[in-house]
Amino acid sequence: MYLGIDIGTSVIKAALFDRKGHQKAEASERMSLLEAPIGWSELDGEATWETAARVIRSLLRDAAAAPSSIRSVGITGVMVGVWALDENDRLLRPPILWNDARARNLVDRLQAAKPGLISAVFAHSGSVMQLGCTLPVMAWLAEHEPEVLAKARHILTAKDFIRFRLTGAIATDESEAAMAPGSAVTRDFHLEQAALLGIEDHIRLLSPVARGETLAGAVTEAAAQATGLKAGTPVAVGTGDTSACVLGAGAHKPGQAVTVLGTTCLNGVIFDHAVYEPRDLGLLFIVPGKRWMKSMVNVAGTTVLDWALETLCPDILAGEAPYEALGALAEQSPPGANGVSFIPYLSASGVIAPRIEPKARAGFHGLAPHHRRADMVRAVYEGLAYAIRDCFVAVGGVKSSIRLVGGGARSPFWSQMIADVTGAPVEVPEGTQFGAKGAALCAAVALGDYASLDEACETTFALKARFAPSAETRPAYDAGFARFKAGSEAALGALRAVAD
Ligand code: ADP
Repeated sequence: MYLGIDIGTSVIKAALFDRKGHQKAEASERMSLLEAPIGWSELDGEATWETAARVIRSLLRDAAAAPSSIRSVGITGVMVGVWALDENDRLLRPPILWNDARARNLVDRLQAAKPGLISAVFAHSGSVMQLGCTLPVMAWLAEHEPEVLAKARHILTAKDFIRFRLTGAIATDESEAAMAPGSAVTRDFHLEQAALLGIEDHIRLLSPVARGETLAGAVTEAAAQATGLKAGTPVAVGTGDTSACVLGAGAHKPGQAVTVLGTTCLNGVIFDHAVYEPRDLGLLFIVPGKRWMKSMVNVAGTTVLDWALETLCPDILAGEAPYEALGALAEQSPPGANGVSFIPYLSASGVIAPRIEPKARAGFHGLAPHHRRADMVRAVYEGLAYAIRDCFVAVGGVKSSIRLVGGGARSPFWSQMIADVTGAPVEVPEGTQFGAKGAALCAAVALGDYASLDEACETTFALKARFAPSAETRPAYDAGFARFKAGSEAALGALRAVAD
């Protein structure tokens, strides 16, 4: 079997996969973020390692898996941020995560001094730089905690730290290097990007970049004691969580579309080359095996359902199977929700795709006295389906099926709606731990058990459900999409003129 480990923001997961890629067992444990000022996001790094070790141990125990049955281990996790190690391999401060915004003032100041900074970064990385990326956080440390950088020997990320604790090997992978930000073409860090952020003197702290589907080292005696794994078990480099999830969903062919409908909603298309269009929009993920994924993210994903349950339907939330009951309520309204639209920009930071507008907010449009709660709830589901269509239009449209994963894929009603609204078949893969599976596939390829990630993805993909788009609902949804676009333009544009 192969073991995949996935270090999430709040949950640490591990799963076992057999030689055919079937998920055999899973285990997880929640972790809390540290108390920190508003806008900061920090974890207890040592506790993260201890939790990961415990999750691996309980997975092996509950699955009654002998340590010698694990052929190799793959690791994925939340990307970027800063995990700084000193010369004695100790963490110098609590790790800073991807969703940390402490670098906002610094980046605003740099951008004011060098207009076009964000575009200059994008021109190499293909991604709009997020504040929690490794380089802006390092730039913040250089200003506010210079002693940390002075004492640091290595700057790692979440999965790189856990792999280091497992094997003692220092490495990172191409997905982290390009998102740091670095270069999406060389799939490596890039001195010019570091210079743009004023930290070229510290770039030597970043780890050597290796391909995710190669071996980084083997489990040490100490890590074997902590985890229950066998010392000497090979460990692969692995990759960032989005890329791992894409691999785990079997999405490796150029042209394949993927939607990760979790708390946020990521919509991407796989390419066999780096793409820089649309300019200054979206994130370009490096996927192991010489692939790239251009993606657009709607900040609010399943958040909209949870919000609808809490605010519009507390009665349903308090009852049995709330998501199923919410879907059943929505089905009482016809496709098009009797003319009600919901713009799903349900975030205090606005929207980042298909345009960047921090002032955009969510809202209902088209309400009249005859509308009922069912229309509003249906509009919430439809709003996100329209936003998915909108995001895909921005990356050139869907020319394949859409592989759908994340908590939202548990709803057949929503899956069918996404197929109907986008006009593309929606395929929900078998399994639950797609990030861990992608990491495990890297570990299988690293051993040579598959000739390539292409072969691994093809061979191990198993379909749970397929939803073909219906021609019957097309006119209602096309009209709904037109209403959504009008409402979305209003949300994106009108507020810009209004002072804060
Ligand atoms: P995360 O992005 O935090 O990893 P997940 O992908 O695990 O999240 O998705 C969790 C979310 O999925 C929940 O917050 C919930 O809104 C949504 N969800 C769970 N079950 C269902 C369901 N049956 N139908 C629709 N949405 C669901």
